[in-house]
Amino acid sequence: MLKILFNRLEQGYRTNNYPKEKITLFPRYRGLPSIHQDAPDDLARQCAAACPQDAIDADRKVIDMGRCIFCGTCERLSKGKFVSFTGNFEISVSEKKHLITDGTLPSLAEHSKKHFKKLFGRSLQLRQVSAAGCNACEADLNVLATPFFDLARFGINFVASPRHADAIVVTGPISRNMKTALLQTYEATPSPKVVIAVGSCAITGGPFRGSGEVTEGLDTLLPVDLFIPGCPPHPMTNLHALLRFFK
Ligand code: SF4
Ligand code: SF4
Repeated sequence: MLKILFNRLEQGYRTNNYPKEKITLFPRYRGLPSIHQDAPDDLARQCAAACPQDAIDADRKVIDMGRCIFCGTCERLSKGKFVSFTGNFEISVSEKKHLITDGTLPSLAEHSKKHFKKLFGRSLQLRQVSAAGCNACEADLNVLATPFFDLARFGINFVASPRHADAIVVTGPISRNMKTALLQTYEATPSPKVVIAVGSCAITGGPFRGSGEVTEGLDTLLPVDLFIPGCPPHPMTNLHALLRFFK
């Protein structure tokens, strides 16, 4: 017991102070893409052709973050001259169309104030549905319960039953076998309820897009309120989205 107490004292207080204090992620992290509009058209086309997710529109010079898996191919290929990724992890949006970005994102404050803050500002209970995810999105949601992120200090928790939930958080490309379970979970959640799509798979089908076994976007099945892009989204991206929308 003494050992445990000593260890606790030695480790000190580990929870981050976000959003009061800014957090800088490790240099290799890929967040909001910066798209250089002055890049040669040829280079943009080369990047579009090399993109495994067909996420680049070379003519408009935009990236669809809903499809992007942040693999970095376009950045490497263009040596940062067409696309370079910033460390900005605050990339969630309330409307899917805003994920198609030229490197800028609209402000979320008004939308969240109107729709969520009054209802869920003090307490928000989430039910996670893994609809055939690879477990990376799920793991990076799970980690929010650890001392560094400590999601519960904001009154946000994951619960075991949709009947106790205010929102469902969906990960994975929604395979045919998971569709019914997902829709039943949605039905079992009392209104008013929120639907959150986490990760490229849930938003567009991700790397599985084009397969007849998956759904190409949660919004084709349910009304989605929040889109959190990434493959998987960094826990800080998830934390930012939840705090920004509900707190
Ligand atoms: S980082 Fe995104 S846009 Fe760039 S090549 Fe990979 S998937 Fe495509
Ligand atoms: S978005 Fe990426 S990390 Fe998340 S479930 Fe799909 S493949 Fe896995």
